[in-house]
Amino acid sequence: MKTIDQCNFKDKKALIRVDFNVPLDAEFNITDDKRMRAALPTITKILNDGGSVILMSHLGRPKGGPEDKYSLKHILGDLSRMLDLEVKFAEDCIGTSAVDKAKNLEPGQVLLLENLRFYKEEEKGDRDFAEKLSKLGNVYVNDAFGTAHRAHASTSIIAEFFPNDKYFGYLMAEELKNAEKVNHGAVKPFTAIMGGAKVSDKILLIESLLDKVDNLIIGGGMAYTFAKAQGGEIGTSLLEEDRMALCLELLEKAKAKGVNLYLPLDTTIADKFANDAEKKDVDTGHIPADWMGLDIGPKSIELFSEVIKNSKTLLWNGPMGVFEMANFEQGTRAIANAVVAATQDNDAFSLIGGGDSAAAIAKFNLEDKVSYVSTGGGALLEYMEGKELPGVKAINA
Ligand code: AMP
Repeated sequence: MKTIDQCNFKDKKALIRVDFNVPLDAEFNITDDKRMRAALPTITKILNDGGSVILMSHLGRPKGGPEDKYSLKHILGDLSRMLDLEVKFAEDCIGTSAVDKAKNLEPGQVLLLENLRFYKEEEKGDRDFAEKLSKLGNVYVNDAFGTAHRAHASTSIIAEFFPNDKYFGYLMAEELKNAEKVNHGAVKPFTAIMGGAKVSDKILLIESLLDKVDNLIIGGGMAYTFAKAQGGEIGTSLLEEDRMALCLELLEKAKAKGVNLYLPLDTTIADKFANDAEKKDVDTGHIPADWMGLDIGPKSIELFSEVIKNSKTLLWNGPMGVFEMANFEQGTRAIANAVVAATQDNDAFSLIGGGDSAAAIAKFNLEDKVSYVSTGGGALLEYMEGKELPGVKAINA
């Protein structure tokens, strides 16, 4: 793997694609800076070599033009504090000002470019736009695992302009190493824990996991479509009616492949979608009309925890319930604790998929007690589905 360790950056200008797409609150404070912290080792190595750094990222989903709320200027102060230097800022990621600021950058200095997605060319993977960006530096580094599944101008197309000067940053290398450990080197028993809102989002992953895992645990909102497909009553719980047949197919496939597929035995239900809802536990498939399932119940927690604690490899993607609400976080918290117990006491390797499971692990302060928490949501899912990520392919090419 071509990592930045193979390059001495002295007097080089490294153009680094990072994933600084961090969540901001209404006052533009960063509510989770994990993705920024994760990119610091790469930046520091280049600066220590005697190079300078030009950072490019996207933030949020602008509609193809500048929008103040998505400006990367909001993260400039935090980034400067993290790096303990004054990071410079280019209000436009291309154009004369960016070119001048990049040209005048001295070794040890860092320049952050404005949100790449203020240009629709970024997501379109426009070659001219990628070429303009490429002119700002003389080495290209991709450290944005979170966007590695996108063939965008800055994540993939730009690499063409650096045929001999393109590298993976440390975060990318670490993410790929850990994903690979689970994808092709899993020690058995291998258990995947899938949760979250929708079956449709995770279906490809579930299918590809059936060829690899010993146990597949399914919880979260997606479990209700399975329950309904099996003839249960699910009240007003999340349902993807058009996926019911698929759920039955998956159950059959799991059986045929000898995979133990565990669905919740019971569920914690609520009379409304709110933390102060009235709640009670019922068996799966016995939810009264007008009630909704918002978490797995105690019997499921016991069953799932037992399977998890006996595993040697764990992949967890998606919460078991609406963990954002304190009254419906028990299932997700218990599963997190079981994953920690397997890691600490059974020497298991535990990979936590990005997005909401990462947020849950962070909420419970357990990030340091599992093997690895990925910064990628969609990217990790696609990698696990066996797809070649464009951001990875572009560096390897
Ligand atoms: P995903 O992005 O697909 O991983 O879904 C994560 C979201 O699913 C979280 O915001 C959870 O609150 C939500 N979720 C999990 N379980 C349920 C449920 N039973 N009903 C509604 N939403 C759920």
